[in-house]
Amino acid sequence: MALKVAIVGRPNVGKSTLFNRLAGKKLAIVHDTPGVTRDRHDVEVRLGNMALHLIDTAGFESGAEGSLPTRMTKQTQTAIADADVCVFVIDARAGVTTGDEIIADALRKSGKPVILVGNKCEGRVRPNVAETTALGFGEPIALSAEHATGMEELADAIAPFGEESEEPEETKETDGPLKLAIVGRPNVGKSSIFNRLLGEERSLTGPEAGITRDAVRAMWPAGAAIIGREILLHDTAGLRKKARVAGEVLEEMSVGSTLSAIRFAECVVVVMDVMQPFEKQDLTIADLIAREGRAIVFALNKWDLEDDKAGAMGRFRKQLDKLLPQVEGAPLVAVSARTGQGLDRLAPAIAAADKAWNTRVSTGQLNRFLEGVLKRNPPPAVNGRRVRIRYMTQAKSRPPTFALFGTQLDAVPESYQRYLRNSIRGAFDLGGAPIRFSLRNSKNPFADK
Ligand code: GDP
Repeated sequence: MALKVAIVGRPNVGKSTLFNRLAGKKLAIVHDTPGVTRDRHDVEVRLGNMALHLIDTAGFESGAEGSLPTRMTKQTQTAIADADVCVFVIDARAGVTTGDEIIADALRKSGKPVILVGNKCEGRVRPNVAETTALGFGEPIALSAEHATGMEELADAIAPFGEESEEPEETKETDGPLKLAIVGRPNVGKSSIFNRLLGEERSLTGPEAGITRDAVRAMWPAGAAIIGREILLHDTAGLRKKARVAGEVLEEMSVGSTLSAIRFAECVVVVMDVMQPFEKQDLTIADLIAREGRAIVFALNKWDLEDDKAGAMGRFRKQLDKLLPQVEGAPLVAVSARTGQGLDRLAPAIAAADKAWNTRVSTGQLNRFLEGVLKRNPPPAVNGRRVRIRYMTQAKSRPPTFALFGTQLDAVPESYQRYLRNSIRGAFDLGGAPIRFSLRNSKNPFADK
């Protein structure tokens, strides 16, 4: 998905020149997309590892007549609304004009990230810092679209909003089977579940040569039928079961094999024993999964042994969210490998966690959301200075990673990060996906004024 960049500004500041510079000279055009209106001429360009979709607004204003507010055209509004990031161009020689202020106002209201550019910085011309900073977008990048100076700085400013270079690979992976691991401490019933899911004593019929540390992998057709995508199951338990059958007792959790199962998987089911849930080892495993950034689902096994079936689930839910805040809201399914009860709910829970894990939230949606969240509960002051979160973009998915932009972000307390994380999780249905933040302090703390 290309990052949508709108180049906006009042007439004659050099938007077209910048547009052409980005589209034509510095960067190779991948292809031309005819715009939605016949005037609009958007292009897809590549900037380093990033794919950019440049939204052209330049054409509209050249012929536009009338007062400044009219010239702040609908098309500019539409371009801002469509964009993930706006490049706001002003004329460094002319200084800040009323026209610039009108556009600045629209940009602020949009909540979109804005990169301010002072164009026409040829020779010794530089933007007036006091005046331009007052627009509220920090110090401008000084460039000359005409002479192609300052373009690197512009590229650097856009880069944080772009998709990471691993993106094409990620997309490819989505096409294959969903990779699933079933992990848990010994005796919680992993093998029993594995066998139930596959409908045969699959993990017992592994290689004959005694205990190997290899895991068993198998397709899970019944699960695939439920979610409409193939699922490749990775089981670490099967061969240990075999060892037990052979009269050996293996009680130690093999951290190595659990870790390799987690690394193999996109989604991990943590099996717990309903009679002894949330033991230290359970928490360690769940934390490992969160730290590895995998989607997570909890299965409470041996549900047949639970006496208080009506009340237990609510209790476990609370316990999970309290003990494992890093994966709060993760799907929790009660199952019994013995009776088969609840196992049909496992695949949908896995699909939900996987969906959350793959979710992409648009910058527009995120910033509208952020506004409400900040209003409801503003970040606390640290050492008398206000922490300022200006905007946010999703830097990547799998797991969902959000870049926060602002000032004093290093001082955002964990409790506030948790508030943000939970709000995001609730608003965009991200239960089952560990959520990450990347804090990006702006060098210019103009927003503190
Ligand atoms: P693993 O070490 O996690 O693979 O656990 P196993 O699948 O070997 O199961 C451990 C023990 O729990 C065995 O005695 C199973 O029969 C028993 N068990 C597994 N699932 C259930 C269940 O749903 N209900 C009950 N009551 N016992 C179960």
